[in-house]
Amino acid sequence: MSKVLEQKVRDGEVAVASMRGACAPQVSQSLEELNWIPRPRLLALRRLGIETVEDLLTHFPRRHEDRTEFPRFPREESDVPICLCGEVVKTSLRRFGGWKKIFEATLQESQANALSEPLVCRWFNLHYVQKMIASGQRIVVFGKPRLRGKRICMDHPEFEVIENDEEMSIHFRRITPIYPATEGLSQRALRSIVYRLLNELRPAPAGFETLLPRGLMNGDMTRAAAIRAIHFPKSWEDRDAAREHLVLSEFFAMQMLIASRRTDASIRTGEAHCGSDVLLDRFLKALPFELTRAQEKVIAEIHHDLAATHPMNRLLQGDVGSGKTVVAIAAMLLAVEGGYQAAFMAPTQILAEQHYDVLRRWLEPLGIRLALRTAARQVESGPLSLFACVNRTNSPDEAQIIIGTHALLYESVSFSNLGFAVIDEQHKFGVAQRARLTAREPAPDVLVMTATPIPRTLTMTIYGDLDVSTIDEMPRNRGKIVTAVRDTTKLGEVLSFLRTQLERGRQLYVIYPLIDESEKLDVKAAAAEYELWRERLHPFRCELVHGRIPAPEKQKIMERFRRGDTSTLISTTVLEVGVDVPNASVMLIENAERFGLAQLHQLRGRIGRGEHKSYCILLTSSQAKEASEKLAVLERTSNGFEVAEADWELRGPGDLLGTAQSGLPALKIGNLKTDAHLMRRARGAAMSIFQADPRLESPENQRFRRLIVEKHGRTFSNVS
Ligand code: ADP
Ligand code: MG
Repeated sequence: MSKVLEQKVRDGEVAVASMRGACAPQVSQSLEELNWIPRPRLLALRRLGIETVEDLLTHFPRRHEDRTEFPRFPREESDVPICLCGEVVKTSLRRFGGWKKIFEATLQESQANALSEPLVCRWFNLHYVQKMIASGQRIVVFGKPRLRGKRICMDHPEFEVIENDEEMSIHFRRITPIYPATEGLSQRALRSIVYRLLNELRPAPAGFETLLPRGLMNGDMTRAAAIRAIHFPKSWEDRDAAREHLVLSEFFAMQMLIASRRTDASIRTGEAHCGSDVLLDRFLKALPFELTRAQEKVIAEIHHDLAATHPMNRLLQGDVGSGKTVVAIAAMLLAVEGGYQAAFMAPTQILAEQHYDVLRRWLEPLGIRLALRTAARQVESGPLSLFACVNRTNSPDEAQIIIGTHALLYESVSFSNLGFAVIDEQHKFGVAQRARLTAREPAPDVLVMTATPIPRTLTMTIYGDLDVSTIDEMPRNRGKIVTAVRDTTKLGEVLSFLRTQLERGRQLYVIYPLIDESEKLDVKAAAAEYELWRERLHPFRCELVHGRIPAPEKQKIMERFRRGDTSTLISTTVLEVGVDVPNASVMLIENAERFGLAQLHQLRGRIGRGEHKSYCILLTSSQAKEASEKLAVLERTSNGFEVAEADWELRGPGDLLGTAQSGLPALKIGNLKTDAHLMRRARGAAMSIFQADPRLESPENQRFRRLIVEKHGRTFSNVS
């Protein structure tokens, strides 16, 4: 090697040139191997879960700032944060209230004129800021300008100091990425690393395959180009196109995973589990009411699936009180008549017992043999001999419908001939439990039911592997529910209202503010509260029910309430799901602000089940704005889907999504709410790929197969 060339190598020119060729970094390469990221930075990145080239390049900006040109300093307040650049002309540190400090930096805009107003940036008790900002520096700030006295101020703006002009091309004079913050890694440091990495990856990093089917592509942007543009876009249009590409890729991958699960489930060997309609007709004729049109439609959908030979995996969603149980019974009868056993799994003892009672009432006259299987109680009921009109393939002394809790999942319950499983209140169980109940060959048909409506975008994601039936109509005989928020200071008026209702023969639930059953119940406090209510409502009879009361005892309490022997039930949220006492038309929820909207809606669903006008009183002492906004939603609507949408508005999808339960990867860039239209497109594309090629065998689908197999460690049971 010549001297000159050696020199060049040392200078790094050739090294970089060759890196761009054969040994450009691979997307899967670890950042450490790049050899130019300082150790402390590597550690900070690792704390963010960023270890490889790909991790870093898919650590997407949370927003961008337009630093191509900075606006003039404002003279008025703004609710929209703005990005400004100026020179620090003065700093000061003041103390107040003893140890507290306020640091102020006054900025002057670059082309100041006589009319220019300075901008005062203020930070309270942030000691590190004063070490970073000094007079004479140029800095960029991002925040909301506020009028404070006569001064325009920005409190706690995000900021960056401009150090030298060479850096200007990376951090300024462009649309600049702003990343999710991390300790020990400034925006600038992170941005510089990403910038350098992207440069080394020119023209395109090996392994960055474009993973969108043609139908979802917008023009010919590749994944590599999209990644480059999301970090350092040339224009806002460029940024938007890149973002759309990346969101679609992410959603598409997710929907491919869902579609593959769905396909797996549907290519399991199944059987038709459907008899003729004789039993069903007898059941429906005996009902004291007509089915709603929505119920009829859903029964027809299930009927169709039961009659088909591939396994059904269907979600039935319907608001509390919309009549899902009747639908489930109708479906179970079809399976029973087909000669199969049906299982009905409920999340709690109380609910299982209640379902057992309801089913006995309706099905024993039809000669159906039932069994209850919970940890606490195992019983069988129903005549054997009356049952002559249908062909039975299982032995005559076996239960045809088995109702139970999680206990159903365990070995001791062996079904001889399970053809159909209903899982009530699906959200209380996980995907794994569903799988456990139905993991047998041939696969039984499965109906999962939920009374927790979720926004539609989430449905196609969380429940994307299921077919969905919706009961979107309430039975006509329902009394209206009036919901009112009352401050605790109005308790006196509330009590006299409750007494009038009790005098009219109605029954009352008082919901005690324990968020969940696992929260340690302060038995003493509950007992004291109970005493208080007994006095308040004397001479009407009250009883107390909570999670620590043993099941048989709880059962008796519920039974007395159902019969009307007790007029008030003081309860924790054990009442939340499924309890059905039509004459109980009044509910008082204490400390309502402590419950989530979905839970309040569930609780409220316990009333409004009979013909009486119902009242739900949300008692609160909270003055907080969020609390009153939240509770106002319930005053406004009693439609579960509207409540769910509002809940989403107020709170974001975090809790709703329950990714752990759905087993789906977390999203890095897509937003389930604002990008709903993209999710729909991605879903459509994924579904049609699997429809045309369920085993992903065609050559053009190999890359998608790799995407799913490699990325998510999933193997196709039927392939390879
Ligand atoms: P959920 O959907 O909350 O599980 P349920 O199935 O418990 O609702 O039904 C609530 C109540 O409404 C029950 O008492 C049930 O008998 C009754 N019901 C169901 N369908 C109808 C209908 N079409 N007309 C009138 N009452 C109905
Ligand atoms: Mg129910």
